[in-house]
Amino acid sequence: MNAEILCVGTELLLGDIVNTNAAFLSRELARLGINVYHQTVVGDNSDRLKKSLKEALENNDIVITSGGLGPTYDDLTKETAAELLGLEMKFDEVSMKHIEEYFRKINCQMTLSIKKQAYIPDGAMAIKNDCGTAPGIYIEKNGKVLVLLPGPPREIEPMFLNYVSPLLQKFTGNTMFSRTVHLFDFGESKAETLLKDMMTTLKNPTVAPYAKDGEVLLRITAAAENKEKAEEMINPVIEQIKSIIGSENIYGTDVGNLQTALVQKLKEKHLKIATDESITGGLISKRITEVPGSSEVLECGVCSYSNRIKHEILGVSSETLEKYTGYSSQTALEMADGVRRISGADIGVSTTGIAGPGGGTDEKPVGLVYVGISTENYSFTKELHLSRGFSEERELIRYLASSHALYLALKCADEKF
Ligand code: ATP
Repeated sequence: MNAEILCVGTELLLGDIVNTNAAFLSRELARLGINVYHQTVVGDNSDRLKKSLKEALENNDIVITSGGLGPTYDDLTKETAAELLGLEMKFDEVSMKHIEEYFRKINCQMTLSIKKQAYIPDGAMAIKNDCGTAPGIYIEKNGKVLVLLPGPPREIEPMFLNYVSPLLQKFTGNTMFSRTVHLFDFGESKAETLLKDMMTTLKNPTVAPYAKDGEVLLRITAAAENKEKAEEMINPVIEQIKSIIGSENIYGTDVGNLQTALVQKLKEKHLKIATDESITGGLISKRITEVPGSSEVLECGVCSYSNRIKHEILGVSSETLEKYTGYSSQTALEMADGVRRISGADIGVSTTGIAGPGGGTDEKPVGLVYVGISTENYSFTKELHLSRGFSEERELIRYLASSHALYLALKCADEKF
């Protein structure tokens, strides 16, 4: 099996950006046992792109492109590929749903031109984009494979590892197997600096970091003849990562996400949790209940938005609310104590703060959040400053607040019980 990597973008030809996608794809294809015989770069020009694509498909079994899948007029890759292969463009409902979901999550208005990204060549398969909107595209035609991938490295890398690599494995004898290490509130650049040597020198297994909303996921992937052999290669690397990063900064391995790690830990320790959420409005309990089997560990989720409910239902004292306001460490503490008391859970978790865009003051700015934790033996709060200065960050602040709460509850369940 031989392959060509075809990177599309005038920025690449002008030297404005470095072609890291070609390096990434070459490395991953080599690990799969697929020979890369050509790397080509072509600008955002339909005729030249068509010519390059035609030659690449004539000379190779597999052609993988990067870039030019976006919504703007100079994003031409899939239309040009469809024209070359004589395929009509068709609307793909599933891709449209993913795009809508993505915009809902980042709380941004969807522009009309984005809809263009939901069109794929007839007979092609759309590849889900977990970190952006443009789906990738997989086409098998006339014994050739053409894979069209987006340009931004933070989109193409997880898409290739999660979805494309498994599709290409059928052309090679190798099995790819990955394990993941999860960090929270650690910083992607700090992780990258500490693991730089490992990431650059290791070829099989490889170590790749992915950062998303306060979390860093390290994916360690090995190619071997079977899963057991791959695991044997990966396990010592995970131990090495633990010794470099520090086990205390790692909240789990192969756990998926914070809420899954928390539910697993609570089950393991036979503990129950209850939440009282102001700023996060139910997001923590929503995330906990996303995990199958969470009914074993979640006692209740209260959303006490008004001071009246904080006082009348949760028992936060009027003095606290008057003296320190509803957005205070004292209130968070009494909320956590209150929900633990009324539910009978082992751990009470609370959040209160200012999500913005309005309501901030010099003393209590937008992004100020308090997370409260209460157990039978001790209670504490953590003050967080979650604003990054963006104009539309309400959702991000709320999401990060919920992540911190899940993380603190996990630490508490792990260490204090
Ligand atoms: P978008 O949906 O963001 O428009 P796209 O698939 O259309 O994505 P391009 O518009 O071609 O991709 O590129 C978007 C950005 O991705 C570029 O500005 C650049 O930062 C990065 N990028 C594109 N190609 C490469 C590459 N080969 N190597 C590294 N980065 C790249």
